[in-house]
Parts: sequence; structure tokens; C-alpha cells
Amino acid sequence: MKNYKIAIIKGDGIGPEIIDEAVKVLDAVSACSGFHFKYEEALMGGIAYDMTGNPLPNETINISLNSDAVLFGAIGGDKWDNLARELRPESGLLRFRKELGVYANLRPAIVYDELINASSLKPSVIKGVDLMVVRELIGGLYFGEPKGRDEDKGWNTMVYTRSEITRIAHQAFQIAMTRSKRVCSIDKANVLDVSQLWRDVVTEISAEYPEVELSHMYVDNAAMQLIRDPKQFDVMLTGNIFGDILSDEASMLSGSIGLLPSASIGSKIGVYEPIHGSAPNIAGLGIANPIATIASASMMLRYSLDEAQAADKIDAAIKRTLREGYRTQDLAQFDAKEVCSTSEIGSIIANYISK
Ligand code: NAD
Repeated sequence: MKNYKIAIIKGDGIGPEIIDEAVKVLDAVSACSGFHFKYEEALMGGIAYDMTGNPLPNETINISLNSDAVLFGAIGGDKWDNLARELRPESGLLRFRKELGVYANLRPAIVYDELINASSLKPSVIKGVDLMVVRELIGGLYFGEPKGRDEDKGWNTMVYTRSEITRIAHQAFQIAMTRSKRVCSIDKANVLDVSQLWRDVVTEISAEYPEVELSHMYVDNAAMQLIRDPKQFDVMLTGNIFGDILSDEASMLSGSIGLLPSASIGSKIGVYEPIHGSAPNIAGLGIANPIATIASASMMLRYSLDEAQAADKIDAAIKRTLREGYRTQDLAQFDAKEVCSTSEIGSIIANYISK
């Protein structure tokens, strides 16, 4: 029997609650799929700071690098907001992504038919939306040098090298090959030199994928088109800051931030996490929606472990749960047959997999 080593980072706020449900579902899928998971827990975020004085202990990096994939909850909270920037939970997460070399962030935005009324957009605009934002994650404005501030001025630098653009472009084209074979590259080439290089390199790489149709769009137009006609998009390829903003915008097409997963992949270990944060306002209440984290576990099976059939089982069980009308409180007003706790939703999904 195959054994997979999974690093589990629960983090802060609702992190532990939602990860527990994802593990429950992973155990259900492994029981009927001929492989086994060995989990190893590691600390990150506020809890890591409280216990070790460091939001990202070296041990966490070592455990992660020695695993087949990382399943991650969320970090952060008011309690740690006044720490020096390098000690804050968010700094630990940025450093973690850099250490693991996860340069590609994949964020699918899918509108479930069962929740078509949960979006603030009209059903006719969003029915059938199934797009994937491929965001560059460890370069661009969030990492560029020089950066700094003094009393009167603050500055950051947006830098991309040819090699950084090349590797993320390959990811986007390869993912498009498994989907509808369309890539829309988002930039601001009319104003930014860094974007003109981005556009030139993406166009060069596209020659290696003749089956994929490439288009380019300015980021301001893309923000508008995502709301006007999201179905026009298949794969959206973006740099770090543009992708950060557009993928949050895309997430609202589906109605709740609690539904959407993400994968961060690169040359070493993949990290799988919900797109939302640690939601301190609902932590410990048992009402958090675990579906984004469970769907992240499905992406882990698909992209890091090459277990697509098992991933399909999880995705089908999530759909069935929503179709049968089981909802956490964030979706209670949308055709709920029964409003369930975090743990009840996890159990329902796990049961559908086992049956
Ligand atoms: P958030 O995503 O944590 O919460 C935003 C809103 O969505 C809140 O009302 C919350 O209750 C709700 N929400 C989020 N996830 C939910 C779920 N699964 N089910 C139901 N409702 C859910 O964003 P925020 O409030 O801006 O940030 C809170 C903390 O999380 C901050 O410290 C922030 O820095 C951190 N954060 C962490 C990550 C990460 O770990 N990757 C990402 C974003 C924010």
C-alpha cells in the first residue's frame, strides 16, 4: 500500500477546526482508495510565535520539506497585529512560501449550481463559471528590492525576471491544456515596463503550446470583465499583486469565501490551503465552513499526489452535500435544508465518500 507523508499546519483562529474536517475526509478517501496517509503536525503563525517566539520555526520548514505535501489552515489574528513586522504571523507565511519555492498559486473559482443564488451577481451571469487564476506567488511587488520607508516616503519595487515569468507561464499553459485551452494573461503593459517584459515573455512561451489560445488584458479591464462576463475566462495568468486582488474578486462569484480552495506549487513541495484567513470573529464557534479546506485537500491529491480519482471522489461528495441542502451558517439563507456545524459538514462529506 502507498504511504503519503502529509505535513499538517493548523495555524490560528478557525485553522484547527477546518483542518480537522479535511483530515476526516482524507481518511475516508484513503480507506477506499488503496493508499494511506501519515500526518505530521507543525507550527506556524500566532500559535508558533506564542510557543517558540518565532512565527515560522525551522522545524516547520524541515517537516514540510520532508513531506509529500502540506495541508495548511490559516494564520493571524488581532492578538499578534502589534508585533514587529518580521514577527507577525503573515511574515511567517510569506517566508514559508519563499522557502518552499512555491511560485505558482492556483485558485479555481467555481460556481456550484446549487448555490447559484448565493452570489451577489445575477444567475445568468455566473451559471457555469469555472475559471482558474494562476498567480505568481514569490516575486513581483511583494518581494522586490529596494523597499522601505522613512518619515515622508514609502517605496516598493515591482521586479520580474525572464526566468520567473517563464516558469509561471509554463504552469498556466500546462493547466490550460487540461482544461478549455485558453489563457488570458493579465498585466499593465500600457504603463509598466515590468508588464511589457511579462507580456513579451508570455507570448514567446505560448509558441510551445500551439493548441492553447492566448489573449492579453490590462488588469483594470480584467477587474471589470470578471464582474461583467466571468464565463469568458478559462485560465487567468497574473503576477503577484494583480493576482492577489483578482482572485479575491473571483472568489465572490461563488458566493462565500468559505468555499474556495487554493494550491501553491513549485519545484519542491505543494502547499494546499483555503483562500480565506483565520476568521477570528467565528473561531471556536463550530460554524466555520470547512469546504474550502476540504476542496484544498482534493487539490493536494490531484496536483501533488497524482491521485485524480480520489480527488474526484471528494469533489463529488462536496457537490452532493450542497445538492442535498446541507449548509454551514454562511450559506444558511441559500436553499438550506439543514444548517450544520463545521464538524457535521465534514462528517456528511466523509460519509458520502465511504458509501
Ligand atoms: P478572513 O478571511 O479571515 O475573514 C473574512 C470574513 O469571512 C469574516 O467575516 C469571516 O468570519 C468570514 N470567513 C472566512 N472564512 C470563513 C469560513 N471558512 N466560513 C465562514 N466564514 C468565513 O479575513 P480577515 O478577517 O481579513 O483576516 C483575519 C485574519 O486572517 C488576519 O489576521 C489576516 O491577516 C489573516 N489572513 C490569513 C490568511 C492566510 O492564512 N492565508 C489569509 C488572509 C488573511
